[in-house]
This record gives sequence, C-alpha cells and structure tokens, in this order.
Amino acid sequence: MVQKLPGGIYRSDLKLADGRDISYYDSSEINRSAADKRNEEAQPGIGHLRLDPLVDEWVVIASHRQHRVFLPPKELCPLCASTGEKLTEIPDKDYEVVVFGNRAPALTTPKDNFKLAQISALTTPDVDAAGACEVICYTSDHSSSFAKLTEKQIRAVLEAWKDRDSALSKLPFIEQVFIFENRGEEVGVTLSHPHGQIYAYSFLPPKIEKMLQVANDHLAKTGKVLLDEVIKREIKDEKRIIAQNSDTNDEWGTFKVHFESVHPQFFTTLSQLMPSLTPLELRQCAYIKINLSPKQVGNLLNITPDSVKKARMRIKKKLNLSPEDSLTKFIATIQEGGIYS
Ligand SMILES: [Zn+2]
Repeated sequence: MVQKLPGGIYRSDLKLADGRDISYYDSSEINRSAADKRNEEAQPGIGHLRLDPLVDEWVVIASHRQHRVFLPPKELCPLCASTGEKLTEIPDKDYEVVVFGNRAPALTTPKDNFKLAQISALTTPDVDAAGACEVICYTSDHSSSFAKLTEKQIRAVLEAWKDRDSALSKLPFIEQVFIFENRGEEVGVTLSHPHGQIYAYSFLPPKIEKMLQVANDHLAKTGKVLLDEVIKREIKDEKRIIAQNSDTNDEWGTFKVHFESVHPQFFTTLSQLMPSLTPLELRQCAYIKINLSPKQVGNLLNITPDSVKKARMRIKKKLNLSPEDSLTKFIATIQEGGIYS
C-alpha cells in the first residue's frame, strides 16, 4: 500500500525475507512490490543493557555485532539496489530513499511489558537492549554522498527522517530517537554507500537529560525557547553561518519589486488594516491578488496546498472575515491608498 506523506513524498511498506520492515520513500506515486528473493535468515537475539555503576550510565552490550559485513567492495555492497544475480538488502532494482531494520541491531523490540530497571548501584539488574536500529539509504548511487544530493532528494530524506521519528516515538519502550550519520572508516563505518542511522533508545543518556533540563529552565525563566535564541544570535552575528537558503528570498525580492510597481501601496494598506499579519502572510496575500492557486503557491513556498489553505484560513480570521466571506474577493478590493468595495 502506498501512503502519501507531506512534501509530495510517497511511502511503500514491505517486508524483507527475514521479517524485517523496509519502507521506500519516493517523490512520485510508485507502487513498490519487489519481493526479497534471499533465503530466510534467523534474526539475531536481543542484546542487553548493563549499568556502569561508576557513572550511573546504561551501556549497550551487543556481542552479536562482531560478525557483521566490513567494508565490502562496491560490487558486493548490500545497500545498492538488487540486480538480476546480486541480491542486496534492497529487493527493488532502483530506489530513491529507503529505510529498513539493521541486520545486526544493537537495540531491538523487547518482550511485552518492558521496563527499564531502577538504578541501584551494583545491584541494578541487566535488562533487554530495547530500542530500534534502522538504516537509511539516501540514494541508490553508491558513489554519491549527502552533500551531493539535489534539493528534491534531500526533501525525500527529510520526510523519511520525520516519518520514522514520529513512528518510533510512539512505541511505548522508546525514550529518545537519535538520527545521525557516521562518515569514514576512522569512526567505524563498515559500508561506504551513502547512508545514515536511526537509533531509538529506551533510556535517556545523561547529556540529553542535562540539555532538557537547561532548555526547560531557560523557558521557565525567560518564556523563550533556548534553541530559537541561539539561532537568532547566530543570524545576528553573521560570523559562523555557512549557508543560508536565500534563493527563494531572492526570487521573492524580484517578484515584490514587480508586484509593487503594478499594485503600489498594497502591502502598506494591508499592514495598516491588520498590523498582526506576518511578512509570510502578506506574501500569501500578494499571491492571492494575482490569482495563484493553493497548488501554485505551495510550489513557490515549498509547502503543501493544504498548508496554503490553512494559512489562508488564518489570514481570514486575522482580517475578521466570516467563513462565508471570500478572501480572494476581499484582497481584490485592496487598491492603492485604500480599500474599495
Ligand atoms: Zn552501494
């Protein structure tokens, strides 16, 4: 079954021969059905979590990972798509983005009623290594890398990350979802195909607990979100920003100059009428003025037509229009220097 996700991405869920889940994320509606033709293989057993009593931290013990494939040559890469005779982790002959369960997971689904043991120094018992370890392949191109992906490809990766984060967060035994990529042999990467990892833990590492504490304290003290403040400071400093998505802003800047030459005072009039309209909402109003459909606006702003419709509802509310009133007609009445009805 194909499921539609935000950003024009479609997900197909299938099973591998040994029962692991695999999901394809595509930028068009493709009905994936390629079967895994490899022999069934027994799943490794669950590892365990052991408490390090010297620092009160859980440590994952996964001895079964010693036997995993280590840096195979390109022609044996298990993350490339399957071809006639070479059967890999991805049964289909091509793919955009795929996510599947790790073949030798350090963390996996525990028995029902899993509960993390209370920490009690040397008497803390070992528990099952509950969690999930998934692999995400960014592209079927073996010699590519995340940095070489197009914006369209990155969008598919982002939607896959969001989708898996949301699904894993709902599992009762999960406390933290950690998405990352290790690059290079030096840090222990065993496969060179462009891919990342999704680890979901049944416990919170001390550093994450500390970060949550600091963020909560900041919110309580100032009413502001700490990370927002950090980003604001970086934008203001202009010293450490490596890249900024200014392209759409440049397009908008050019559009705005042309638009204002045809509709002078449009933005001023609208802002005076309702000062609470944000710059993005004013931009949406300009697009309504030139009769762009939600789909066209969605393409310009890189959001779904549904999000455009929702934004239009919010604008209507701000302008004190009733549900029966037409926003398009209202915007059409805004002329230079005032509103004409
Ligand atoms: Zn590969």
